[in-house]
Amino acid sequence: MHVVEIENASKRSSIFIGERLENLAGYLPPGRAVVITDANLLRLYRADLPAMPVLSIGCGEAVKTLDTVKNLYETLVDLEADRSTFLVGIGGGVVCDVAGFVASTFMRGLRFGFVATTLLAQVDASVGGKNGVNLGGFKNLVGSFNQPEFVLCDLRLLDTLPESEVANGMAEIVKHALIADAGLFAFLEDRPEKALALDPATIETLVGESVAIKARVVGRDEREAGERRKLNFGHTFGHALEKIGGLSHGEAVSVGMVFAAGLSVKMGRLPAAAYGRITGLLRRLRLPVSTAASPDRVIEALRRDKKREAAGIHFILLDDIGRASVEEIEIRELERQVAGFPEILRQQESNS
Ligand code: ADP
Ligand code: ZN
Repeated sequence: MHVVEIENASKRSSIFIGERLENLAGYLPPGRAVVITDANLLRLYRADLPAMPVLSIGCGEAVKTLDTVKNLYETLVDLEADRSTFLVGIGGGVVCDVAGFVASTFMRGLRFGFVATTLLAQVDASVGGKNGVNLGGFKNLVGSFNQPEFVLCDLRLLDTLPESEVANGMAEIVKHALIADAGLFAFLEDRPEKALALDPATIETLVGESVAIKARVVGRDEREAGERRKLNFGHTFGHALEKIGGLSHGEAVSVGMVFAAGLSVKMGRLPAAAYGRITGLLRRLRLPVSTAASPDRVIEALRRDKKREAAGIHFILLDDIGRASVEEIEIRELERQVAGFPEILRQQESNS
């Protein structure tokens, strides 16, 4: 088992990579605890849950709403939960976002922990303490920063994940390697098949290193002033593609990383050979490196996504594999680059 400790101004948090869901009870403080999970996990893993009340929400991004939060508050009231009740979110990013938000706000805040059950939640949602729900078409518009006391990353739960969910996590692992750890990138380059097959030792290293990178980046910048922006690598373009539809988050981020890496080459920062290694690895991980979306639609989606920001946006570029920097780029300039980037805006022949 790998353990990564996160310390910030207010709290200490531990991420246990390789711990099992069955051992959850040992991590709970004395007193009452309540589980929040989703319908899929309940169906698959009910027998492994400790004996305690279980609140289940629906599955998928669409349930990340204030209505879901309100229902949970009301059920907690019915259960006579009080300030001493401990909440455990067991699930992927959706459950962690909702459970973290409920725990942060119910009675001005309850203690809480997570069991992260998707690869994406293990490498992404488990660190950084962001939680929240969507509102009016905007993702994560309402939420808070609050790191759980513990996160258990049970790697065996990943065996039941749909393939697209594994791809989502892999894209974020590649992102972490690209912005901060050339060694992790090389490790993945040496064994993409083992990674995709969820080989236990390989996954434990990938999740452990990825969590450590995110913890380091977030630790330097808890509230997203500078360093933390690097975690958005691939995401400006990725979110636009996700909005257009047809791609999962990880697939969209994969293409977004290719775009950002290509731009980095154009701007004379990244060697062309590094660009080749990046697209090569993504392909071997069966992630897309190009999109069939037209430049016009991408630009329109970029505009919609960024309408709440000023004319310039913080764009993440690569100086090398393992080294990123934040650059302020005007949206108009970015749009020009999208229009002039035929390599990735074409039929996905490489993805078939
Ligand atoms: P993410 O972590 O990717 O943001 P979600 O919380 O939306 O994602 O979870 C993605 C989907 O995978 C949901 O339908 C959820 O119920 C399901 N899921 C989560 N963990 C597992 C698991 N270990 N095995 C099978 N399905 C899971
Ligand atoms: Zn992401």
